[in-house]
Amino acid sequence: ALHNELQELRGNIRVFCRIRPPLKNENPSMAHIKVNKFDDNSGSQTMEIVKNGLNSMPQHFKFDRIFVQNESNVEVFEEIGQLVQSSLDGYNVCIFAYGQTGSGKTYTMLNPGDGIIPATISHIFNWIKNLKERGWHYEVSCQFIEIYNENIADLLRSNNENTASNLKHEIRHNQENNTTTITNVTLCPLNSVEEVDALLKRANKLRSTASTSANERSSRSHSVFIISLKGFNHLTDEHSEGLLNLVDLAGSERINSSQVLGERLRETQNINKSLSCLGDVVHALGSNDAAKRHIPFRNSKLTYLLQYSLTGNSKTLMFVNISACVNHLNETVNSLRFASKVN
Ligand code: ADP
Ligand code: MG
Repeated sequence: ALHNELQELRGNIRVFCRIRPPLKNENPSMAHIKVNKFDDNSGSQTMEIVKNGLNSMPQHFKFDRIFVQNESNVEVFEEIGQLVQSSLDGYNVCIFAYGQTGSGKTYTMLNPGDGIIPATISHIFNWIKNLKERGWHYEVSCQFIEIYNENIADLLRSNNENTASNLKHEIRHNQENNTTTITNVTLCPLNSVEEVDALLKRANKLRSTASTSANERSSRSHSVFIISLKGFNHLTDEHSEGLLNLVDLAGSERINSSQVLGERLRETQNINKSLSCLGDVVHALGSNDAAKRHIPFRNSKLTYLLQYSLTGNSKTLMFVNISACVNHLNETVNSLRFASKVN
C-alpha cells in the first residue's frame, strides 16, 4: 500500500535503469558500479558509479527500479505486467527505451519471445481469454512506425507499396476525443502472439536499406510500436479503449556535430533535438502544474505523436539502458544524467 501511495505522489511517470551484461567480444573491464537494494520505504533503488578513477567521488543516481546484469527479460516483464494491465483498463501507456547504441534497448523492447513487445501481446491475449466469460470482447490491432530525420515511415507497409513511398504520413490530433491518427499507416489486426514475431521480422527487413543495415538505421531512428485495444462488454454495454506505445529510441550517443557534414549533420541535429525534447516533456510532466501548462510537445514529431498518450489518463515508463563496460563509461554517465533530469 505504501508503495502505491508513493507512486501516486510521484505521478504517473517512472524510470527504470537496466544494466546489460558484458558481451563475448567486449573489453571485460567493468566500471565501478554499485547497486543498492530496493528500499521499501522510499520505493526506489540507488546506485553509485565512479567516473574518473578510483580516487574520485562516486556519483549517485536514483531510480524506481534497477535491473542488474543477470536479471532477464522475464524478470523485467514481471515488474511491468501491471502497467500493461492498465492499458486493458483503458489507460494510455508509453514505454521508452533510452540509451546509447549497443546498451540493450532493442533487446529489452523487441527480443523475440520475451522482449516487452512480444511479452505484452502474449499477456494481452491471455487476459482477453479470461475476460471472455465476463462478457468482454476485445479487438487488438497494431501499427509500427519509424521516425527518421523527423519523417514518419510505415514499417508494416506491404511490399508493393515499397516503391510507391510517396504516401504522406501526417500526425492528426482530434481534440474532441483526444485521439491521434497518423495518415496512411497500415493497421494490422492481431489475433495471436505468433503473428507478432512475423510482423517484427518483416519490419526489420524493411528498415534496412541498400546503404545501411537495419542495425545502423535503428541507431539513428526511433521506432514506435502502437497497440490499440478496443473492448466491449455485451453483458453490461461497457466500452474500454486503451493504447500502448512501445518506443525503441534512437541511440543517445552524441556524435560531435563538428565532425559531420551534410545529411549526417542534419540527422545528428534531429536526433539530439528529439531526444532532448522528449526529456523536457517527460520532465515537465513529472513537475508541478505551472510547468505542465507549457509542455513543448510540438518541438518534435515523437512528442507530438505521443501528446495524448503522455497526458490525461496515461502512464509512462522510461528504461535507461546502460552497459557497465569501462569503454562505455562516458556515455553511461550521460545516460544516467539524462534519466535523472527526467525523473
Ligand atoms: P541497442 O538496441 O541499444 O543498440 P541491443 O539491444 O541491440 O542494443 O543490444 C546490443 C547487444 O547486447 C545485442 O547483441 C544483445 O543481444 C545484447 N544484449 C543486450 N541486453 C542484453 C541482456 N540484458 N542480456 C543479454 N544480452 C543482451
Ligand atoms: Mg537497437
